[in-house]
Amino acid sequence: MRIDILRVLPELLEGPLGHSIVKRAREKGTVEIFIHNLRDFSTDKHRRVDDYPFGGEAGMVMCIEPIERALDHLQSKRSYDEVIFTTPDGLTYNQQEANRLSTLENIIILCGHYKGVDQRVRDHLVTREISIGDYVLSGGELAAAVIADSIVRVLPGSISDETSALSDSFQDNLLSPPVYTRPAEYKGWGVPPVLLSGHKARIEEWRHEQALEKTRMRRPDLLDRLEESED
Ligand code: SAH
Repeated sequence: MRIDILRVLPELLEGPLGHSIVKRAREKGTVEIFIHNLRDFSTDKHRRVDDYPFGGEAGMVMCIEPIERALDHLQSKRSYDEVIFTTPDGLTYNQQEANRLSTLENIIILCGHYKGVDQRVRDHLVTREISIGDYVLSGGELAAAVIADSIVRVLPGSISDETSALSDSFQDNLLSPPVYTRPAEYKGWGVPPVLLSGHKARIEEWRHEQALEKTRMRRPDLLDRLEESED
């Protein structure tokens, strides 16, 4: 899979996408991630990519031209399955969307900045608009890092124990059951005895019950989704 990210601020993405699982996946070639500077596609002598909004509002707006030039440059080389714009008024991101995106071959993620982008970018150049939650960030870089990281995590080969990503929270609309490690007893706080029993089937059953119980308490909305998908 190939992910191209268009952004104006250098550095903000290199860090989050240069460590741990994502770093290893990039090294192994499970995923290719390219980060581009939109300023490189500006024809302005000061490499500007924003301008004042029509109508006299406060703040700056990202111009359509450098964005279209950047997209044209990428799209002339290969076809892309999605051009995603990160924006607080987009569809709220979740695990199902991360799973779906992980099945695609090439995607572009466009990071907004300032007050956002000229609406014509959204109307004509973008295929999907994603929000990572109901709050406003200063720029789309962190949102792009969140989206890319969550995609890479579920790509086959990213995690050595492949079942591990599948047992994460939200896969199957359930929260993940509690986990424990050594020591089995700490300050008198024990570990559920079933986990020490070595009885695989019973452990599995316990985990499922715990996941259900936690989801019922914390996120009953997920269970409604589970029932809908079973109907
Ligand atoms: N004026 C805009 C917010 C601009 S924030 C509004 O009220 O909707 C600047 C940029 O940060 C956005 O263009 C977007 O790319 C990014 N951003 C901010 N919050 C985000 C969120 N919750 N999810 C995804 N991207 C976000």
